[in-house]
Amino acid sequence: MPCEVAARFLILYGSQRGQAQSIAEEICQQAAEHGFTADISCLSNQHKYNVDREIRPVVFVVSTTGDGDPPDTAHKFVRKIKNKSLVHDHFSHLRYALLALGDTNYANFCNGGKTIDSRLQQLGAKHFYATGHADDGTGLEVVVDPWIEGLWDALKKIFSSMSTSNQQSADLSDCTQDNYHKNASGQEKNKSGLEVDLQLLKLSEVDSQKEKTITSDSSDVETLSTALVASLKQSVPPLSESVLNVPALPASYLEVCLEQVSTEGETVPSDKDGYREVSISKAVQLTQDDAVKNAILLELDISEQSIAYQPGDAFDILCPNRASEVEELLLRLDLQTRKNCAVQVNLLKNSSKKAAKVPLHIPQSGSLQFILTWCLEIRSAPKKAFVRALADFTQNGSEKRRLLELCSKEGSADYNSFVRDTNVCLLDLLRAFPSCLPPLSLLFEHLPKLQPRAYSAASSSLQHPGKVHFVFNVVEFPACPEHPARTGLCTGWLADHVSSILRPLGTVPASDYGESGLILVHVRPRPSSTFHLPADPSIPVVMVGPGTGVAPFIGFLQQREKEREANQEATFGETWLFFGCRHKDKDFLFRYELERFALNGTLSHLIVCFSRDEPDAAGTVNRPTYVQHNLRLHAKNVASILLKNKGCLYVCGDAKNMAKDVNDTLLEIIGNELQIDKLDAMKIVAGLREEKRYLQDIWS
Ligand code: FAD
Repeated sequence: MPCEVAARFLILYGSQRGQAQSIAEEICQQAAEHGFTADISCLSNQHKYNVDREIRPVVFVVSTTGDGDPPDTAHKFVRKIKNKSLVHDHFSHLRYALLALGDTNYANFCNGGKTIDSRLQQLGAKHFYATGHADDGTGLEVVVDPWIEGLWDALKKIFSSMSTSNQQSADLSDCTQDNYHKNASGQEKNKSGLEVDLQLLKLSEVDSQKEKTITSDSSDVETLSTALVASLKQSVPPLSESVLNVPALPASYLEVCLEQVSTEGETVPSDKDGYREVSISKAVQLTQDDAVKNAILLELDISEQSIAYQPGDAFDILCPNRASEVEELLLRLDLQTRKNCAVQVNLLKNSSKKAAKVPLHIPQSGSLQFILTWCLEIRSAPKKAFVRALADFTQNGSEKRRLLELCSKEGSADYNSFVRDTNVCLLDLLRAFPSCLPPLSLLFEHLPKLQPRAYSAASSSLQHPGKVHFVFNVVEFPACPEHPARTGLCTGWLADHVSSILRPLGTVPASDYGESGLILVHVRPRPSSTFHLPADPSIPVVMVGPGTGVAPFIGFLQQREKEREANQEATFGETWLFFGCRHKDKDFLFRYELERFALNGTLSHLIVCFSRDEPDAAGTVNRPTYVQHNLRLHAKNVASILLKNKGCLYVCGDAKNMAKDVNDTLLEIIGNELQIDKLDAMKIVAGLREEKRYLQDIWS
């Protein structure tokens, strides 16, 4: 290392839900172990850094939100660098690396990071290390871990290059041939950017300062009995016999005290962050009892809260962790008798963690039970760093060895199969490893904030003044060797919460909205910036919304129905809805309402398919099974609406399969219609997105 001063770099992060922040903090933490000094700041704290004059290398970690937007905390920064008056070499002094986070289940993968990256490049900044694009859909760590690993060599090179030339304009071309690509042996598996294929990744040498080598025959580890099949609890050779490279133990930084002040009675979160408490005035089961999925419609009474929304907006709902899981966790941690104690959380003096902060989502003086119920996502799959830390609180040698395997490089495949892909949570680990007894502070350091769940409004306030409707499927996770059967956190809770007023479709409650005023939820509007009907009603629209994806379109159509009634002279464009479900008689959501829209002209075309119904008597061969098949059948109309009539295409629902299939079909339709190849069709589709005429509201 040339000199102390030169080894200082800056980390800037833009985080929406805390992931980019925790990765940035991890980089900051590891920097010291590699002989660097890192300063760290959120992009929103503009008074803490100045990229216009920054001579240190900068590492950006940026997540993506919404429809490919940078996180809220990066908005000001993005606005600043997008300023048109900046000259082309404004950032020619800047050497940087960027790690973009995204999810390939959504459109505009990693676009938050890409937006910053491309603008910095335009203004003359240079990479000292290639950009990483990490995919939450397949697991961020698949890219993040090797990217961080390659960063240290890239930093060494940039610092040595800076010291050689002793000026910031050093030629960095060598450094841009980064270790990240070299490590990956030039392998790309490219869906939407550079991604490292871990299987092919030749791991760089183990840094003895950073990692401890742990062997299976070390004295404090019991010999594992050989088992034929690997499971969460045990491994098989070669892993069980491997020398392990485990991550460095994350520095602890919190001190948690429980005070014997009774906080009994504190049961729901306070009215902060814009949440309002509203009552559920109606709950209707939209599917038959024998349908594969159970879809429920909720009606919320928002009349007293003067909450405004438009069809296309969504609402965040706060949901608690399951009481039974919180109880079990308390019992398991031997804290059952102290659940009503007030929790005081402070920073540990002398912690080596850089930029340590008490997590904002943990309220001071909240009761332990309250914090475990409302503030921490106890269902989240523990990250490798958490598993590493848990190992240090595990008495039994073979249990400890297994936890170390799961967080090691060698155990990556096991971690993916037995923890990440099966969504094992802390409680599942504590059940599987009975001698593990972590302190509360460890949970507070590693469990992420309990996030609200979003639901699209399935109503229009023109049709239902003072009310908003949602529709959701109760998510079900069947039992597996790693955990018992359970329902999705929010959907399972909502289903239980409304069970006393839930009624089957078509039945009428005793009074209009039942006597359910006491069933309450906390909601916060989550307006969409783009997913709305066009302001000009003559513009034709195509809506694709199978299953619960139909929710926002019910709102659109209720709105259109009312607008048509109020303004009979106006011209309304064609309105197409492509809907799909399994069975016509079991899960055709909003069937009668949709048929009414089709009958009264609100919908010009209602195109429906049923994926699991037997072919009808005519035995139609190649009958459409999924929405994309129907889109293909109506390709001419769809193409004409989009390409000739300046219409809009809306897609809502499942991100994992449907949205991708619809996108592929759209490329095919446009390619055929214009007789162009796929690449050119992709450009047209990108143009439609840009013009906000191809809009997605998708979730996984
Ligand atoms: P969670 O407990 O959060 O589980 C959800 C996911 O976690 C699963 O899909 C799976 O990937 C993983 N998971 C958790 N545990 C396991 C396990 N044991 N095994 C395997 N995987 C597991 N949903 C609707 O139904 N209707 C809507 O109108 C709607 N609108 C939305 C609008 C927006 C803008 C967004 C972002 C999302 C919307 N969603 C909607 C999705 C919704 O927010 C929730 O994600 C969904 O209801 C599941 O929530 P949950 O808490 O029940 O499930």
